Amino acid sequence: MARHYDLFVIGGGSGGVRAARIAATYGAKVGVAEEYRYGGTCVIRGCVPKKLFVFASKFSGEFKDAAGYGWSVGPTRFDWPTLLANKDREIDRLEDIYRSNLTKAGVEMFDDRAVFEDAGTLRLVNSGETITAEKVLVAVGATPNYDTSLPGIEHVISSNEAFHLERFPDRVLVAGGGYIAVEFAGIFNGLGADTTLIYRGEEILRGFDDDVRRHIHQEMERKGVKVICGDIFSSIEKNGTGLVGKTKQGRTLPADEIMFAIGRNPNTKNLGLEKAGIETDSVGAIVVDGYSKTSADNVWAVGDVTNRVNLTPVAIREGHAFADTVFGGKDVRMDHRMIPTAVFSQPEFGTVGLTEAEARETHRNLDIYRASFRAMKNVLAGSQERAFMKLIVDADSDKVLGCHVVGPDAGELAQVLGIAVKMGATKADFDQTVAVHPTVSEELVTMREPDERVRPETE
Ligand code: NDP
Repeated sequence: MARHYDLFVIGGGSGGVRAARIAATYGAKVGVAEEYRYGGTCVIRGCVPKKLFVFASKFSGEFKDAAGYGWSVGPTRFDWPTLLANKDREIDRLEDIYRSNLTKAGVEMFDDRAVFEDAGTLRLVNSGETITAEKVLVAVGATPNYDTSLPGIEHVISSNEAFHLERFPDRVLVAGGGYIAVEFAGIFNGLGADTTLIYRGEEILRGFDDDVRRHIHQEMERKGVKVICGDIFSSIEKNGTGLVGKTKQGRTLPADEIMFAIGRNPNTKNLGLEKAGIETDSVGAIVVDGYSKTSADNVWAVGDVTNRVNLTPVAIREGHAFADTVFGGKDVRMDHRMIPTAVFSQPEFGTVGLTEAEARETHRNLDIYRASFRAMKNVLAGSQERAFMKLIVDADSDKVLGCHVVGPDAGELAQVLGIAVKMGATKADFDQTVAVHPTVSEELVTMREPDERVRPETE
């Protein structure tokens, strides 16, 4: 006889695990299937190991800066296998925590791939077992996209493989201009590789504030990353000494590794969604309503597989809201507005709210505050790196519509700024807040005069 659950979750990543645990605390009998490792992309091959790599890559800059403060660091050497082994140990520890939290909550785990037979019936691919469930949650995430039409694409890696390279490459090409490309370019560069980022558009980090995009581009170059915009690979070849990327603009770029970070696709292939009557959109993402409910009556979906806002904390919130609503008798919808986020570029970037371009489309009168300066630490260090801050204020209501920070610990700042901006803080609220001195972020409460006043008549 098939095992039966109140809720069966496909995918043991951030969203799925949160939903499973919360539903179980409401008394539901819950099972979860994960085909790879518990913790999902974020913990196993995303945010967490990436941040560890970012930490590792920043030491080279710290060693350089130390001299201005009187330190002689002496010869330094980076050992890639040590970083990999320590990172792997940490990921193992975190996966164990995920597993034990599920066990403590009474959730049954299956290390297997689950596919739909119909909306209430799942088949575990490896064991062949059949599972039935009153309700199913799909939380299978996304997988790296490759340009499969590109000759030589079989020679490239994605971020998945970058976490396990046997040998640290001397020369790296990174394709893409989004979060992952920019973050990994900084990692490879900081760890000592000759690094080039190649992006098809005019400026990296499309979708973020234009001033920030330009600023990060410049600062990345100052740190040694070669950033090529307006070009794209036309082929990739392997020769005796490594790889060669040829581009549409006629560049020939040699490399030891070429990493593609050109977006991620919802992981919906061969899941049997059609057997369950679950609708997907043109990119294969599961279509859901405000409660994360799919077109099938008893099936919900959360996280990257729904391609709404593809961030770990969003998946977690969506999973929690689902469990609260469906098993906790509450009415909780995930609010996708004003989500703060950080790009762990070097320098780091934190942001919440509207970009200037978005604000210009939705508001008539704006005051734009900008500040660009060398953080105190950089002066003695002899580093020319500049921080950048920008506030976009609705001149009619005085509300801060957007806040963008590039500089040390900008991700940490984004978390706190996110509270203020989401609460509807005004520029006057910022001004009334006493500065914390000496810090980089005090600039946010000391920007007195707008750098630019956007009024319809001035346009
Ligand atoms: P993004 O969507 O951020 O960026 C994709 C990049 O690839 C864009 O620059 C895009 O260009 C380019 N691109 C797309 N298709 C092609 C193509 N065929 N050829 C060449 N370039 C192409 O995706 P990422 O892969 O960087 O990240 C995936 C997701 O992971 C993101 O949605 C992000 O939310 C999440 N993430 C979040 C992090 C964080 O919170 N710090 C860190 C890492 C990932 P164009 O702009 O022209 O479309």
